[in-house]
Amino acid sequence: MTRLVLVLGDQLSDDLSALRAADPARDVVVMAEVSDEGTYVSHHPKKIALVLAAMRKFAAHLEAEGWRVAYTRLDDKDNAGSIVGELLRRAEEFGAGEVLATTPGEWRLIRALKYAPLKVHLHADERFFATRKDFADWAEGRKQLRMEYFYRLMRKKTGLLMEGTSPVGGQWNFDQDNRKAPPKKIEHEGPLWFEPGDEVVEVLDLVEERFGTHFGDLRPFGFATTRAEALTALEHFIEHALPQFGDFQDAMMTDERWLYHSILSPYLNIGLLSPSEVCAAAEAAYHRGDAPVNAVEGFIRQILGWREFVRGIYLLEGEDYTSRNALGHARRLPPLFWGASTDMHCLSQVVAQTKEEAYAHHIQRLMVTGNFALLAGLDPAEVHEWYLAVYADAFEWVEAPNTIGMSQFADGGVVGSKPYVSSGAYIDRMSNYCSSCAYKVKQKTGEGACPFNLLYWHFLDRHRDRFESIPRMGNMYRTWDRMDDDKRATIIKDADAFLAKLDAGDSV
Ligand code: FAD
Ligand code: SF4
Repeated sequence: MTRLVLVLGDQLSDDLSALRAADPARDVVVMAEVSDEGTYVSHHPKKIALVLAAMRKFAAHLEAEGWRVAYTRLDDKDNAGSIVGELLRRAEEFGAGEVLATTPGEWRLIRALKYAPLKVHLHADERFFATRKDFADWAEGRKQLRMEYFYRLMRKKTGLLMEGTSPVGGQWNFDQDNRKAPPKKIEHEGPLWFEPGDEVVEVLDLVEERFGTHFGDLRPFGFATTRAEALTALEHFIEHALPQFGDFQDAMMTDERWLYHSILSPYLNIGLLSPSEVCAAAEAAYHRGDAPVNAVEGFIRQILGWREFVRGIYLLEGEDYTSRNALGHARRLPPLFWGASTDMHCLSQVVAQTKEEAYAHHIQRLMVTGNFALLAGLDPAEVHEWYLAVYADAFEWVEAPNTIGMSQFADGGVVGSKPYVSSGAYIDRMSNYCSSCAYKVKQKTGEGACPFNLLYWHFLDRHRDRFESIPRMGNMYRTWDRMDDDKRATIIKDADAFLAKLDAGDSV
């Protein structure tokens, strides 16, 4: 009897477990562009276009490989509008009684398949270094889950950057070499972009018509939409940007969007590239002498360490993770997150870049928009929805632990042992934003004081009970306590006035 083989929009990999379990002579691959997936949050149009264009090309590739593919386009008149609806429709069409699927990345779809009125065989997603069980076994009995220790285990398991049982270069971590302030000039022109062909243009027109009102610029569109293109983008990164990746990993610069980052996360997350081939390519560059150890280790740690770690957390913590709100934050997301004008140059740069490119690098997400959201006490569910919507690489399994956990501390300390908060001084050190800002980063109170300076102390003061006893935060509280009463009162008053403006919807 024919079986259906479900391939989702972020499962565009030849070695997908569901495809491996299937038989091209007997089974039918089901792929569907459904409105449910395009609208459960208002995804950036570039992200929708990337997924749809890559799905269409992957379907054609599977057909060329000998698979029968039942592909539903968004505007097909029989489109059932949801993944389960499409499976039911195709089951009837092909007389199929069973579905082979690779376990989806997010709880929402896992649940939908689990309760579908069909026999669905869920195969583990093996496109990761660690299985769900590997992570659960490692986490078992640990009081605190720290990425660094999990990463070391993964280094040993994979042998990446290892000489026998020791790390290459004698250290596990070269982070202290990777925090350089922005350089005078970026020598790298950025990632490789691809001219959209007819098929991509057709998708762009469709996305414009159906999702044109979503936040974000659809054009120009240059993402890779096939594995071959994504591999070329990887080669370009390894050759031109990896050597400098480590040095300026945390730097931010006005009108410089890419620095030496890879912009490979969209391709990794939809399956056009595998994490193991990306890490292997970086490691090979080190062994050839083309990239220094701090760059290669820093890059591999992001994928072998952070990417695997956050997936493990997402699966371990369960379905309620995205609704956590340990700090009880409830402020609505202000319009500046959707592009309303602001005098805060750092925020305006990151939001404008997000709107145009569906991309911001890690420190922009963590220490500008994320830091602001946390200091201002924005509702983490709204913040999560924003990050999930606006980035081309945003899929809940990776986005939620980064947002709810690392950035907003809404999980109460599962991902990070302390909140990632800073005053304007950090942004000033790691960027050149402040020199073009209407606010003054060195000013602590009064007209023109950098809002990060006010909100930083407001945050620490209002959450004193929770954070004072964390050893690495003690210094902050000692500094606060050393200020005289008047100064502390002025900071809190100015911060309250700033937050009141934010609540009133005034431009800040
Ligand atoms: P590079 O700087 O070149 O890093 C190389 C690769 O490492 C990335 O492609 C990515 O696959 C991986 N990586 C780096 N940091 C992380 C991390 N913290 N977690 C997981 N993988 C990581 N990443 C996503 O892929 N999707 C998301 O939706 C997402 N949301 C985020 C939300 C917040 C609030 C924060 C702080 C971070 C988020 N990240 C997310 C992590 C990180 O910002 C992006 O992976 C990175 O910016 C992607 O750009 P790049 O490919 O140029 O990365
Ligand atoms: Fe951002 Fe403050 Fe610097 Fe302005 S002064 S760019 S608001 S950190």
